[in-house]
Amino acid sequence: MELEFLGTNAGTPSLQRNVTSMALRMFEERRTFWLFDCGEGTQHQILRSSLKLSKLEHIWITHLHGDHIFGLPGLMSSRSNQGGTTPLTVFGPPGLKSFLETSLNISQSRMEYEWTVVEHEGGMIYEDDEVKVESLKLEHRIDSYGYRVVEKDKAGS
Ligand SMILES: [Zn+2]
Repeated sequence: MELEFLGTNAGTPSLQRNVTSMALRMFEERRTFWLFDCGEGTQHQILRSSLKLSKLEHIWITHLHGDHIFGLPGLMSSRSNQGGTTPLTVFGPPGLKSFLETSLNISQSRMEYEWTVVEHEGGMIYEDDEVKVESLKLEHRIDSYGYRVVEKDKAGS
């Protein structure tokens, strides 16, 4: 797995630095990537990278401040326009579902794939054959969660 920083600025985008987002390239065999936070302009940063939105598998949101989520509806809608057909799951604190449903519904965004929001308040929140994800509450002005991605031991290695 490999981390790629798409934006590291807090508050507002600047010409030099984009607001928060980070991509995690998953193992080679999996051919997908995950996104942590999605500030405004994240899809432009992805266009400048070798990442393909259609390969985006999960999005993990730390908290609901605008500089971490204002890029989400646009990115999700572009994923559909760019041939993304596989399901997408977005994880984050309570309120995320209402934000996304409202933005995507009133903009009449047509989604060619199935998307799900999993709202959580920390704990063990995700597990599949290869990885598990644990979330821990962080100190911030609003409810905020850090994520720990743990790769499971592979049989025979
Ligand atoms: Zn914040």
